Amino acid sequence: MARYQASGLVLFAEPDYAVSAASTLPNDPRFQDGTQWWLNNYGQNGGLPDADIDAPEAWDIVRNASNVIVAIVDSGIRHTHEDLAANLWTNPLDGTHGFNALTGNHDPWDDNGHGSHLAGIIGAVTDNAKGVAGLAWRVRLMACKFLDAAGNGFNSDAMASIEFARTNGAHIINLSWGGSEFSAIVSNVIWSARADGILFTAAAGNNAQNTDVLPFYPASLALDNLVAVGASTRTDASWSFSNYGATNVALFAPGAAIYSTGFTNDFHYASRNGTSMAAAVVAGALALLREQHPQAPAPQLIERLLTSVDALPAFAGRCRSGGRLNVRKAVDRPAIAVIPEVWPVQLRITGVPGHRYLLTASTNLNAWTALRTNFADFNGDWVYEDHTSTNTPLRFYQALPGP
Ligand code: CA
Ligand code: CA
Repeated sequence: MARYQASGLVLFAEPDYAVSAASTLPNDPRFQDGTQWWLNNYGQNGGLPDADIDAPEAWDIVRNASNVIVAIVDSGIRHTHEDLAANLWTNPLDGTHGFNALTGNHDPWDDNGHGSHLAGIIGAVTDNAKGVAGLAWRVRLMACKFLDAAGNGFNSDAMASIEFARTNGAHIINLSWGGSEFSAIVSNVIWSARADGILFTAAAGNNAQNTDVLPFYPASLALDNLVAVGASTRTDASWSFSNYGATNVALFAPGAAIYSTGFTNDFHYASRNGTSMAAAVVAGALALLREQHPQAPAPQLIERLLTSVDALPAFAGRCRSGGRLNVRKAVDRPAIAVIPEVWPVQLRITGVPGHRYLLTASTNLNAWTALRTNFADFNGDWVYEDHTSTNTPLRFYQALPGP
């Protein structure tokens, strides 16, 4: 460039920068410089292009989860961090940000770093020109500390933390820890939180083992409100220490060389590896989904995640879905609810504006007849009158995306 400019033969010289189609790109420096490869991988630093979760494409649809509380049951959170403070849940009673099972008070200060790192993955304050981007730009992070400074803890304290989160309105609870021993107390508290629609994300574990054979708890619990996550790399390989299991692991998500918020001061950031990080990525994705579909039952949101993965050879046979998280696909699938309005036959189909739906009917919930294909209007609605219906036999309706 300098030689061109010095030659006097050209008016100006500049690099031929690569550009891409418009999508939502926040101004956080570590997102912009490509360090956060899992959000947007264009082949930087030895990565494989598009070995990522398509975050900018997802953010075109939903970026904030301001109504969602994500509890991080871990080592606490450095709640004064420059890139976390504004996204902390605040207890309306006393202005604190969570719970400490080790001291029994409301001061979950992080003396280990693990929890603060997860917090930034899920929901660092984003587009604030500082640090990193979180998967959810705005969210309410609840800190529940039960791991000590060395990263160790007891199931009884985990249970107390989960109970605190449940009582205080958490929608999603991240469990990035575990062990080989089954705990009835942890299993029961996770299952009973299902009644409140609470979703759990759990790290599959970092032992490079098949958890269908050697389980890792709580990830290996067979509960439909819990999703177990293995770790993938910037080349869409399985991270070398990640556990796997065709039954006991649900999906993979990025979990190697993950750069996020640190804990030694308010401007500290650090890189970590592990299925812990992968579980937090999925917790962030679920926060966005939960914001989109506040009424959806937990198993439905998990189903949405698992049916929208990028199926890849590295994960085939190593998890139930056979793939790596793709958030864009997960948030781009229409919500479908058919609500009968007037008997006999007015129906309102609610989905995504401009998307096409096929309305079907059945008298036995088994054989379905196509009634009509139509586009949802700008509100995402489509009202249909079924003049052929009678009260007997009863007729059921179902709307499907497409064709
Ligand atoms: Ca991508
Ligand atoms: Ca930031």
